[in-house]
Amino acid sequence: MTKLAMAQPRFKDPNASSKPMGCSIHPGILGPDSRLLRQKSWPVALSGRRQAEESWEKLEQALNQARAKHDFRSCIGLSAIQIGIPLRMALIWSPNMGYLHIANPEIVEYSAQTAIEHENCLSLFDMRGRVARPIGVALRYLDQDFSKIERSFSGWTARVIQHQLDHMDGILFTDRMLAGEPLMPYGDYAVQKAAA
Ligand SMILES: [Zn+2]
Repeated sequence: MTKLAMAQPRFKDPNASSKPMGCSIHPGILGPDSRLLRQKSWPVALSGRRQAEESWEKLEQALNQARAKHDFRSCIGLSAIQIGIPLRMALIWSPNMGYLHIANPEIVEYSAQTAIEHENCLSLFDMRGRVARPIGVALRYLDQDFSKIERSFSGWTARVIQHQLDHMDGILFTDRMLAGEPLMPYGDYAVQKAAA
C-alpha cells in the first residue's frame, strides 16, 4: 500500500494502475481505464466543509497544472472523481468567467434547443467525439462557501456543466456520442476543424 493510500483510504482506487493510464496526459487526473470514473459520487455533506475545502484545493491544483500546460481558449472543467475524490464537486474555468465552484449540482431546467459539438475530457485528453446536448441549463448548486445558488448558463459553459454532472454519475462523454461515430484522435479533429 502506498503512503497516499494509507493517508486517504477512502479515495484509493483499487483498480487504478500505477502506470500512466489510457491516453490521459495530466499527472494526477485519472485516465479512461480507471474504474473509479464509472462510480457515482457522493453528495458533499454540509458538515464536511473541511473535506470540501481540501478537495477544492486539490481540484484547483490539478486544473491549474492542466492550464499551465495548455492554452485553453474556452471553458474547461474537472470533477473531483477525476482526481480520485468521489464527491459531487467540480471546478469549471473559462477566460471570461474565471473559476466556478459547483457542489451537489442539480439541473432544474434544460433548454429545448440542443446543439451537437465535439467534446473532449481531461481524462481522455487527446480524443474528441460529437455529443448532442441542450444549449442552456438552469443549475442549482452550492458554491465554494456552501451558499445555495441558482443560475442559468448557456453555450459552451452549459455543455461543460452537463459533462461534469455526467462524471458525478459515472458517465463519460463517449457514452453520449452520436451512434456510429468513432472517437477521433485530436490530430484528425484539428485537420477537420481547420478545413471547415
Ligand atoms: Zn470529462
